[in-house]
Amino acid sequence: MISELINDARKIVIKFGSNTLADKNGRINRDYLGEFAKQTQALLNKGKQVVIVSSGAMIAGVGTMDKWARKQDIHYKQALSAVGQVELMEAWRKSFQPLDIHIAQLLLTKDDFSDSIRTLHIRNTLFTLVDEGIVPIINENDSVCVDEIKIGDNDNLAALSAILWSADLVILFSDIDGLYDKNPKEFPDAAHIAEVRNLDEVKASVNLGKANAFGTGGIATKLEAAQRVVSYGIPLIITNGANPRAVDELSKDAQKGTAFLPQ
Ligand code: GLU
Repeated sequence: MISELINDARKIVIKFGSNTLADKNGRINRDYLGEFAKQTQALLNKGKQVVIVSSGAMIAGVGTMDKWARKQDIHYKQALSAVGQVELMEAWRKSFQPLDIHIAQLLLTKDDFSDSIRTLHIRNTLFTLVDEGIVPIINENDSVCVDEIKIGDNDNLAALSAILWSADLVILFSDIDGLYDKNPKEFPDAAHIAEVRNLDEVKASVNLGKANAFGTGGIATKLEAAQRVVSYGIPLIITNGANPRAVDELSKDAQKGTAFLPQ
């Protein structure tokens, strides 16, 4: 099923969580990014278009300004993401450069998605970039948003971006293999769910456990993202991003994940 989704999709949004891209000290895993860039090139060569949603600005900021790591002040947090965003994009740029692929940065806020003029401009920018073979990389513009007005997690940012761009597929790379009927970190007998067609039914039957129990961004934001895109007819895959060859493995059904499918 997953291989079919990938092979059939032309416009793919791929989201990376901070833990997939960087270690806890904020060092970005450049080998990983380099490998992923090669897989993106393979997708582009097949006529597909890729938009990346990349977390990691905060964590990369900690790697650069380590003495700020414990500061709770909102202005320091925002300053940290402003510093880290540069580090993050530099790592992405260096990964794609040897392949002669340009990248572009879009920093978006919640407001951008509710303003029809801005939405239109973002859409046109995305269309122009991908038509020119450039890979757009989106993150939330953390330095202009405070908690109350933030999207807050990149699962939902990826979903909103996918809807805005009219994507065919969203892949959320995280540190879990997908959805289980209970938390696999607590229960060894947790059963993996390969396919979800009725999200409400699954939500009622799955024991989500503590908030964020299944992964970094938490399963809750991933299910929210799935609900958003599926209601627009866009399928979404949750899978483990740890394997640098994950895209390739998924397209051969050699890696598991959960596919959320429109009904
Ligand atoms: N925008 C945040 C960052 O780049 C990530 C949010 C998330 O992990 O979902 O650090």
